[in-house]
Amino acid sequence: MSTGVRAACVIGWPVKHSRSPTIHGHWIGQHGLKAEYRREELRPEEVPDFLNDLAGRGYVGCNVTIPHKEAALALSEPDDRARAVGAANTLWLEGGRLLSTNTDVEGFTANLDAAVPGWELRVTDAAVLGAGGSARAVVYGLIERGVARIHVVNRTLERAEALRDRFGEAVLPARWTALPHLLSKAQLLVNTTSLGMQGQPPLEIDLAPLPPEAIVADLVYVPLETPLLAAARARGLATADGLGMLLHQAVRGFTLWFGVRPEVTPELRALVEADLRK
Ligand code: NAP
Repeated sequence: MSTGVRAACVIGWPVKHSRSPTIHGHWIGQHGLKAEYRREELRPEEVPDFLNDLAGRGYVGCNVTIPHKEAALALSEPDDRARAVGAANTLWLEGGRLLSTNTDVEGFTANLDAAVPGWELRVTDAAVLGAGGSARAVVYGLIERGVARIHVVNRTLERAEALRDRFGEAVLPARWTALPHLLSKAQLLVNTTSLGMQGQPPLEIDLAPLPPEAIVADLVYVPLETPLLAAARARGLATADGLGMLLHQAVRGFTLWFGVRPEVTPELRALVEADLRK
């Protein structure tokens, strides 16, 4: 049933909340490609058959969202990033093989590059709040970019310790009570918890101890300007927001599937912002 149209999709359960169709649809139109990007809502038990016959279903690759990222890792050939993070969110077919990566890693670092060029030159100590799935991507990205010490602050200390076991001695697990002291020596603060997200408890921390050259990044993007980012801007600190990371993480998949490297533009950002406000 080949129609000459290259198609990719996002699989998830549920999948209607995904912003990926808006992002990829915009780039397909912008580049005038004969291509499609669809949503595929799959129950967990449907994922193996679907991924094992992705080509037969007319797809050159897919994004993967909750709760299928671990299954996608097991059903594909992951690169170092996906393996280290323990989850795959971008899959593509190459010579009949199903390969995968985790683009949250480059989404996080590319967003920082865009927001604060040269950031890694001023960051020796980073404080990362949270130790869940997105923290693994952030920690891996920080290690890739040479950050010497990554203080992982988590409510459940054992999960922060698990990150040290996974990524090595650059990771320094800590409790929330240590935060004021850690902030005083951190040039980068990253929130990877769901605190501050619409419908979740607020993230209550005092940014006063952060040095004036510090950068504050928040992975939460609903609301677009979280109280954490608002407080950082009020203090005159550089910031990088969660929507920027979401947009930048989409670049690699589009490039792999459709052969064109797209740009994260203000126009795309405005489109997704409008989508998030609906
Ligand atoms: P996750 O694996 O469920 O981890 C959640 C983290 O938040 C854990 O460290 C958890 O601590 C902490 N947490 C939750 N509630 C807490 C509370 N009441 N007090 C203290 N800590 C609390 O989630 P995730 O996948 O990492 O996602 C986290 C956030 O990042 C979400 O808001 C998600 O939307 C966002 N995100 C954004 C992007 C992007 O592209 N911008 C990408 C990925 C994720 P415990 O370990 O103690 O439970």
